Amino acid sequence: MSFPIRRAGVSMIALLVALSTPVFAQGTQTAPTAPAPTTAASPAGEAAAAKAEAMRPAIESFTLANGLQVVVLPDHRAPIATQMIWYKVGSADEPKGVSGIAHFLEHLMFKGTKTHKQGEFSAAVAAIGGEENAFTSYDYTAYYQQVPVESLKEMMGFEADRMENLVLTDEVVLPERDVILEERRMRIDNEPGAQLSEAADAALFQNHPYGTPVIGWRNEMEKLSRQDAIAFYDRFYTPNNATLLIAGDVTLDQVKAYAEETFGKVPRRADPGVRQRPQEPEPLAARSVTLRDARVTQPSVQTTYLVPSDNNAKPGESEALDLLADILGGGTTSRLYRALVVDQGIAAGTGAYYQGTALDDGQFMTYGTPRGQATLDQVEKSVNAEVEKIARDGVTAAELEAAKNRVRKALIYQRDNQTSMARRYGAALSTGGTIEKVESWPDRIEAVTVDQVNAAAKAYLQPKRSVTGYLLPADAETSAEAKAPAGSPEAAGAVAPTDGAPVPGDTRS
Ligand SMILES: [Zn+2]
Repeated sequence: MSFPIRRAGVSMIALLVALSTPVFAQGTQTAPTAPAPTTAASPAGEAAAAKAEAMRPAIESFTLANGLQVVVLPDHRAPIATQMIWYKVGSADEPKGVSGIAHFLEHLMFKGTKTHKQGEFSAAVAAIGGEENAFTSYDYTAYYQQVPVESLKEMMGFEADRMENLVLTDEVVLPERDVILEERRMRIDNEPGAQLSEAADAALFQNHPYGTPVIGWRNEMEKLSRQDAIAFYDRFYTPNNATLLIAGDVTLDQVKAYAEETFGKVPRRADPGVRQRPQEPEPLAARSVTLRDARVTQPSVQTTYLVPSDNNAKPGESEALDLLADILGGGTTSRLYRALVVDQGIAAGTGAYYQGTALDDGQFMTYGTPRGQATLDQVEKSVNAEVEKIARDGVTAAELEAAKNRVRKALIYQRDNQTSMARRYGAALSTGGTIEKVESWPDRIEAVTVDQVNAAAKAYLQPKRSVTGYLLPADAETSAEAKAPAGSPEAAGAVAPTDGAPVPGDTRS
């Protein structure tokens, strides 16, 4: 159903902001936009949220005999429950030559099983007014339903069933392959910004499979077969390779009983082993990619730096990168925004963010789009000047404290949302994290020092670690000439994500 246009692992701060917005409704989940200012609502709302946070029941976890880890996030404010099953497999785990198979299988999981014919599960969700969805990323594949709590056990039964009983025939597999090819056409081939991102990722990751798009390369997608899907399913869809999250109006004992009766009956089907992907070498050369297309109405430039993730960084480094991104480009108070939008008046939009939720390396990005008579070249030079300045001179104690304060507020609001909480734990547990690590995140952020942020900026914001992507209208001879067209919303100064602005998170087709 869906896959991320950009890397799914996103800055925790960006995630907090993006996910603290309303729960995605079925069929209308939209991509979280580039990180917005993290200022919270009224002081009264803040106090109420802080109170709810203080009263939040503890998160609990247990493991079934077959190896399935179950995490329970109690939330008794409404009689609803969210079930999410996260498989520790994503596109970066695909064998060479069958790119797109992880996402293809996600689609095929909605076909029938030995016990339930095609469409029965979704019809059951719809009949009780529930919502369902699924998403595939580089490091995980997840399925979820949000339903009235009295239907939770039935949902767990359906989900457990398709973990072992999926029936795949050419009659269901081949037409669905046309669906994913169409999805690629709509989401990538018809979107110059997405094509550029794909090319930038391929250039950034010279060895790691993060350079291969989640949806797959078209030439390989066209050849995906029933056998490929079954092999992938049989290798990775097993209780010992998954995490079940149940959030909502439930107790630990209740979830334990339901889980034993449903998922507990699924045998351990395989042992996928250690997730060892080819790693990136130390980068040596700055790279750039350029895409010119008649459909581009708004030129943009984005630079992506190879950096560590929350999983493979040294202690404190990932937290420092998160705060660095916030200070440099995390909203209207950030350095980039103040310099390019407010002071110089040359950019319609600009920002920076860090994508740190990944099993292997993360990414740090900056982006900018010109406004009015300003050229893309001017915007790029100004973005780079701010990056060089922060890497050379560092940040101030006051800037760091303000960034930490934004995190504190955003975290309280995120914890107020059942689905975003479940998503946060699910993503972390699928990328090498633990419950304890997620819980300690606020403390780890608090502990970051100015020296740590400055060291991260110096070490990682280097041109040789980066790929710069230019998105240009067909008629622009060089990136230096590209300007926002007169009369466009961007020319009028609107701050909106554009074709070129990276979009974090999963999006649904
Ligand atoms: Zn899809």
